[in-house]
Amino acid sequence: MLRVGLTGGIGSGKSTVAGRLAGHGAVVVDSDRVAREVVEPGTPGLAAVVAEFGPGVLTGDGALDRPALAKIVFSDDAARQRLNALVHPLVRERAAELVAEAPADAIVVHDVPLLVENGMGALYHLVVIVDTPVDERVRRLVTSRGLTESDARARVAAQADDDARRAVGDIWLSNAGTPAGTNAAVDALWTTRLAPYEENIRLRRHVDRGAPRIVDYDLTWPLQAERLLERLRLAVGPRAIRVDHVGSTSVPGLAAKDVLDFQVVVPTLDDSLDEPLAAAGFPRHPEFVSDSSGFPKRTHVAADPLRWANVHVRTRDSPFARHTLLFPAWLRADDAARAEYQEVKRGLAGDFAAIPEYAQAKEPWFDQAIQRAQAWADATGWRAG
Ligand code: ADP
Repeated sequence: MLRVGLTGGIGSGKSTVAGRLAGHGAVVVDSDRVAREVVEPGTPGLAAVVAEFGPGVLTGDGALDRPALAKIVFSDDAARQRLNALVHPLVRERAAELVAEAPADAIVVHDVPLLVENGMGALYHLVVIVDTPVDERVRRLVTSRGLTESDARARVAAQADDDARRAVGDIWLSNAGTPAGTNAAVDALWTTRLAPYEENIRLRRHVDRGAPRIVDYDLTWPLQAERLLERLRLAVGPRAIRVDHVGSTSVPGLAAKDVLDFQVVVPTLDDSLDEPLAAAGFPRHPEFVSDSSGFPKRTHVAADPLRWANVHVRTRDSPFARHTLLFPAWLRADDAARAEYQEVKRGLAGDFAAIPEYAQAKEPWFDQAIQRAQAWADATGWRAG
């Protein structure tokens, strides 16, 4: 199962995008609809709301009187918080049930208006943000939903801003243009990423990346890594001692392969992480079972066709677990060492048709570099933290 979180500001076009994804076969879980269902007549949710706010929030036929409730909570922050505390857990629980009920090969799209505000990004393999400029959103809300302009602007202002969304979104889908243009972008997203990602997860298949290619440092790597780190931490839970973004992409300014590396340190190597990591989109690779001097490790490789990543699982007594943290720390601190390493990488990358051979060729340089990194650690008192 592939879980996709879909969000964006009010009026950005989430429902429109969700509809197109449903047309491709996605199972759409609509949080707004679930929020209405959990307070339908006869539900414990409605009973709880009435117990809190009184029978004045009911219509004559016993349904929730939304305008009456809105009147109470929109002018009173404390009342709104009480309402949210009652309803949000019910919505989360019911939405989680609907996701769990989806078939094993489903691509589940969870349309959540407040995904960013509620810090839910790590629950999904991918988060898609529907992006439409504020003025255009306001125009659409006024013309199609009958809101006044000031009401539309107030609702926009009450939500997360674009910077907050940028931190959480893996994919930005512009809906600033025509519906046809957006539909084409959704179709491409489905065929190039969502469908193959789901299949890879189901078949426990990682992505083959071909020949090594060094690219300039990418300023978006830290945010991308942060998102994957949160997902990994959620997947491994308390089994791991620590999870870190490591490797060249964790060194600002360093050119590198566009592959994010992570290290999970565990007390002992066993199979207990195989299933949680595979389900989170990182199936175990059958090879790469030891570091150069024979220390056992495990390697998981991302199933996402467009976000390449590796997860190295090591025990805390493996010297490589520490080296893997020390080496980027040293490169971050030492400009000359960083430049030297970049030259080595660029020099070797073109010589090899596959990444393992390229990595092997870097070993001699590593062997002497790690001693210099250790000298730096001794001199500065660096510790793994
Ligand atoms: P959301 O679910 O994010 O609040 P909707 O999908 O309901 O947003 O879209 C808001 C309104 O804008 C709807 O009436 C929809 O028909 C309209 N709309 C969506 N996409 C476009 C577009 N590309 N061009 C013009 N109108 C659009």
